[in-house]
Amino acid sequence: MPELPEVETVMRGLQARLQGRVIRHAVTFRSGMRWPFPPNLGAALTGRRMEGFRRRGKYILVRLDDGMSILLHLGMSGRIVLAPLGSNQVTLHEHLVLESDDGWRVGFVDPRRFGGVDLVATEAEDSHKLLAAMGPEPLDVGFTAATLGAALTGKRTPIKAALLDQRVVAGLGNIYVSEALYRAGISPQRSAHSIPGARAARLVPAIQETLIEAIAAGGSSLRDYVQPDGELGYFQHAWRVYGREGEPCPACPGPPACGGVRRSVQSGRSSFYCPRSQR
Ligand SMILES: [Zn+2]
Repeated sequence: MPELPEVETVMRGLQARLQGRVIRHAVTFRSGMRWPFPPNLGAALTGRRMEGFRRRGKYILVRLDDGMSILLHLGMSGRIVLAPLGSNQVTLHEHLVLESDDGWRVGFVDPRRFGGVDLVATEAEDSHKLLAAMGPEPLDVGFTAATLGAALTGKRTPIKAALLDQRVVAGLGNIYVSEALYRAGISPQRSAHSIPGARAARLVPAIQETLIEAIAAGGSSLRDYVQPDGELGYFQHAWRVYGREGEPCPACPGPPACGGVRRSVQSGRSSFYCPRSQR
């Protein structure tokens, strides 16, 4: 599932290709995805200039020239595919297609349809029901040990679950929470209420470094953002612990004192961790 770095990279790819372009034609192939499309979405988008792109949490916002913005969520399996118009690319599970005035076709593909598209007044973007309760952006200067500590005070849930809660911090999912807790030396099972203070002071830079490195792995130019098949923004990135059960643990070199990366299941989802260096 795309998390903050993947969504950021998709957003940058869209921005690099489409900023300032006019949507010459837009068409939907079903009535909605996770939620219904706004009525007459294709007509509402046709003729609009795409003026600005940004990311909030795991959502992409495209500012249009009529005071409205597109809100796009990739969900579990959503992908954006760019192709030159007329290249005859047939894509299964394509639910929305935009054609730009400079000859590009932008398809939103999502086999499982957990993603979605909405329209929101640009000035009310942050009040949209999916964004209104969202916590701070982890890469903003306002995200500090003090603010994270305040959000976790008194919480009795495991820190893993607390960091997955988008009201605590925006954009993190299973992968980057595992990676950040590993870097910070904090067990995913540790109670969130014990994090404020010194542990929060380790956790905030660990979250930020993890995300910054992953965003950097996504590249820095349109050429990096677009794969050969036209898909935007997904990349192979080397995790330190995520998906590496039983493999050597980078924190415990040599014959690993910890026995290698371990996996446990919390709330039905895998956590990857080192049982020695994470407490
Ligand atoms: Zn270890």
